[in-house]
Amino acid sequence: MSSDQSAQQLADDPDWIPHWYDPDGDSAPITHGEGARVIDDQGESYLDFIASLYCVNAGHDNQAIIDAVKTQLDRIPYVSSGKENDTRTKLARRLAEVSPEPLTDVVFSVSGSEANELAVQYAREYRDASKVLTRWQSYHGSTYGTAALTADPSTRNNVNSHAAVTGSGKFLPPLPSVFDAEGEELAEQAANHVEYVIRNEGPDSVAAILMEPVAGSSGAYPAPEGYFERLREICDEYGVLLIADEVIAGFGRCGEMFAMQDEGVDPDMISFAKGVTSAYVPLAGVLMRKEIADDIREDGTDVGQTFAGHPLGCAAGLAAIDEYEDHLIENGREMGALLEEGLHDLADSYDEISHVHGKGLLWGIVVENPETGEPFANSWVDDDVDNPVSEVLGEAKDRGVLVGLGRPDYQITLSPPLCIDEDDVEEA
Ligand code: PLP
Repeated sequence: MSSDQSAQQLADDPDWIPHWYDPDGDSAPITHGEGARVIDDQGESYLDFIASLYCVNAGHDNQAIIDAVKTQLDRIPYVSSGKENDTRTKLARRLAEVSPEPLTDVVFSVSGSEANELAVQYAREYRDASKVLTRWQSYHGSTYGTAALTADPSTRNNVNSHAAVTGSGKFLPPLPSVFDAEGEELAEQAANHVEYVIRNEGPDSVAAILMEPVAGSSGAYPAPEGYFERLREICDEYGVLLIADEVIAGFGRCGEMFAMQDEGVDPDMISFAKGVTSAYVPLAGVLMRKEIADDIREDGTDVGQTFAGHPLGCAAGLAAIDEYEDHLIENGREMGALLEEGLHDLADSYDEISHVHGKGLLWGIVVENPETGEPFANSWVDDDVDNPVSEVLGEAKDRGVLVGLGRPDYQITLSPPLCIDEDDVEEA
């Protein structure tokens, strides 16, 4: 929906609020949460199979996180982002401990968009180069800069008309439908294509390539095996930084603390948000190699935000990471395997499901018209269409399960909290 449409809708109905799940926009407000469920003001309970916005990874009532935030509130709610704070320092150390080894330093922000803004600023500063390349079919945020980096056409159409469009080239996603290849061959062709783009942009002008290890809201697409390994080689050859946007993929969502750990490839930076606190308090940031952080500190170009690294968020983050390590990642892996099995069975039972793909607890169900072999609707060409996938979202909600909509080709996306159990998977 464009901002003009939203403004019109508000003018027609002052009570209208944009709503993710309900195509009719008339749902009752959510007032409570219990484990993987949310409950509305009518007492209706829904299985939250999208973790609200791919973020409530620990479920809606994790007592350890709630207690940690309360304890921090009792001690001191806020400490200036320019001053030392023990909780913030502890979280910075903990993040370095659980992330890929070369990433030792962390800078905090508030949202995922701002984390990516910081990653881009630092990469440009460090490399003394202006371009950051991102891939088509990606989402990196809604701020002036990150909307320009984002390459899901439906988001671009909505937010990009006012966004910065310079300094951000695009490359093709590693999808079988794009390269007409699979597996190793796909990995090689798609990575070589990135090299081609870097060479044509001029390697010295490219600061970084930025991408989601598993594309999130644009469809839960993992990369073929070997893709990131080859990208790492290419980045090393040209001195270009590799930035992983783990805003959705991180914190157990894809089976490891960070999805790049599963790829076995060390990026130069990781941007994170959402799951770091299980969304209990807004917090985000960027993990990076020491030499990048040192360079920024030496140049004195460091910038900060008032609420960056808010102590309440840091307290939530420390407790959430403990919970992920203690049992949630393990449970997420087991439930992910079960979900994968169930989704393949589902795909076998419906001609309209062309395939399912994903990793851990992040999955996409591709729905196509069996007669044409094409998506029923596609936001590349149809801006605001009636399509069966939106109907499925509404129907799922009526049956008590909340799922998401992947763009641009109208997929059903699933991203439940990591605390789900076998019954939840069965029910969904
Ligand atoms: N990066 C990715 C991969 C995302 O999915 C999102 C949000 O959904 C963002 C960045 C932006 O995060 P935020 O909405 O917290 O600004």
